Amino acid sequence: MNRRNFLKTATLLSVGTPLFAKNDSRLYIELPKKPFEYYEKKGKQKGGRVLIIGGIHGNEIGAYKAANMLVDTDLKKGEMLIIPRSNFTSILADVRGYNGDMNRKFESISKNDPDYHYVELLKEAILSYKPDVVISMHDGFGFAIENKRAWGQSVVIDELKYKNFELYKEAKFVQENANKYLKRKLAIINTKTFTGTIHKEQKKALTGWCLKHDVKAFCIEASKQLPSIHDKIHTHLVMLREFFKIYNIELDGGIDYLVDNIDKLNRLKKPKITLEINGKKEILTYSKLLKVPSKSEIKVVSIEGQRGDFIVPHGVNLNWRSFHFNNLRFHIKNDYKTLYHIDIKRV
Ligand SMILES: [Zn+2]
Repeated sequence: MNRRNFLKTATLLSVGTPLFAKNDSRLYIELPKKPFEYYEKKGKQKGGRVLIIGGIHGNEIGAYKAANMLVDTDLKKGEMLIIPRSNFTSILADVRGYNGDMNRKFESISKNDPDYHYVELLKEAILSYKPDVVISMHDGFGFAIENKRAWGQSVVIDELKYKNFELYKEAKFVQENANKYLKRKLAIINTKTFTGTIHKEQKKALTGWCLKHDVKAFCIEASKQLPSIHDKIHTHLVMLREFFKIYNIELDGGIDYLVDNIDKLNRLKKPKITLEINGKKEILTYSKLLKVPSKSEIKVVSIEGQRGDFIVPHGVNLNWRSFHFNNLRFHIKNDYKTLYHIDIKRV
C-alpha cells in the first residue's frame, strides 16, 4: 500500500484517537458510521418472500422513498426484506454513484472500493434471505415507451425467460395492470443480458448477478422526468402493488393506504443532533453557529429523527469519518434534502 492510500485508509478506520492531533491546532471531528439499514417483515398468513432494494443509485429519489414507505407498514400476508437505502453515501450527495456506479460492481469489486462493504452486504442479504424475487428500484431517464434509449417508466427484465423464471410473463402482468393507474405508461425493457450483445454490462448489475445465482430479479423504473417526487413514488407503489399480487404479499391496512397518503407519509421534521465538544454535550435542533476553541475534539454522538437523517460536511470527502478543519458548514440532511446547518468555527 502506498502512503497516500494508507493515509486514506487510516482516516477511514480511525475511530477513537485522532491522527497527528497533538501538533495540530485545528478542530477534529468524528462522524457516525453510515448505517446500512434493513428491515424484515413477516405476516401471520403464509405468502411469498420478496426482497426490496432501493437506492443503489443515489439520485433516484422516488425509488428509495417508495422503498422507505414500506418500512413503516406491517405485513398481513407473506414475508419481506426491505433495504431502502443501499447506497446512502450517494443518496446524501444526491448523485448516481459517489464512488462510481454501484450497479456495475456486482460481478467483481475491489476491496479498496468504498462501496465494497455495501455491495458485499447486499449480496449476502440476497443469498441468505433466499427470496422468491428481488425487486431493484430505480428512477430512470426519460420515458421508455417513447424513446428506445430511455429507461424511465419501465419494468426491466434481463431475458424473456431465464432458467425456469418467466420474467416476461410477470413483467407483462405488472405493466398491463399498473398502466391502468398511471398517466405516463410503462414499457417492458428486455436487456437480453445473457443472449444479446448490446447490454453486456448488465451482467455486472444486481439483477444479472441475482439470476446467475438462481434468484429471480426485476428492475422497476419510474422516470426522473416525472413532474414531482410524489409522482415518482406513486409509479413505484403502483408497480409494487401488482408484484405483490403475483407473490401473495398483503400489507396490513393495504398498499392503497400508502398510495393514497404519499405526501402525508413523507413529511420531514428536523432531527435532533447531539454533539460532544471536548466531552461536553451540545444539543442542536435548528441552524446555529458554534464557536469552538483550537484543538477541540468534536464527536457526533447521535442523530435522532427519521430514517435517512444524517450530518454531511460541506466540501469534504463523504467517505471520511474523521478529519481536521478550521471552519466548516455541516448540512443536517434527510437524504438529498438539507433541513438545517451547523457552522463550526475555530476561535
Ligand atoms: Zn438507477
